[in-house]
Amino acid sequence: MNKYVVLDRDGVINRVTRGEYITSPEMIDLLPGAARAIAQLNAQGYAVIVVSNQQCVALGLLTQKGLDLVSESLRTVLRSEGATIEEFFYCTHLKTAACECRKPQPGLLLEAQRRFGFDLAATYFVGDMFSDVVTAKNAGCRSIFTLGGLDDELHKRGEPFPHMPEYIARDLADAVAYILAKDQIEA
Ligand SMILES: [Mg+2]
Ligand SMILES: [Zn+2]
Repeated sequence: MNKYVVLDRDGVINRVTRGEYITSPEMIDLLPGAARAIAQLNAQGYAVIVVSNQQCVALGLLTQKGLDLVSESLRTVLRSEGATIEEFFYCTHLKTAACECRKPQPGLLLEAQRRFGFDLAATYFVGDMFSDVVTAKNAGCRSIFTLGGLDDELHKRGEPFPHMPEYIARDLADAVAYILAKDQIEA
């Protein structure tokens, strides 16, 4: 079976400020080591998928076409560093829309699973928010929480996780090192 790793986008691959959205390619600012970490996964035979909430579309801050442009730019920037993103899955609905795809609902992860056929229970979802950890739990995935993102402060203040992640990583590079080591042991 093909191996997959699912990543949250903002705060894991690229920088983001709370309350702000990446509405143009120029705003893409890769986190240090992120491209290399994805390239490392690819080199080890993992396809990498991105799952992200982007209610900026429903808010009218960005069109679907604009969002696609951001995805393509991110893809291009990463590819120039040897890293490949297989597919982007977005929820573009409002937080208040109560859809089934906005994290922490598992809809996007389930959709990705249906598309690519990976084993959810063996697949990691890496995110920088507590809600990402809950998303992984809701989808039956393994979860890694990365520090340095939007919920870093919450964690440092001692706020307990709503659900314990399998691993707390310094960043994506650390998360990938963990995944590769774990999969080697468990293989
Ligand atoms: Mg995030
Ligand atoms: Zn949605």
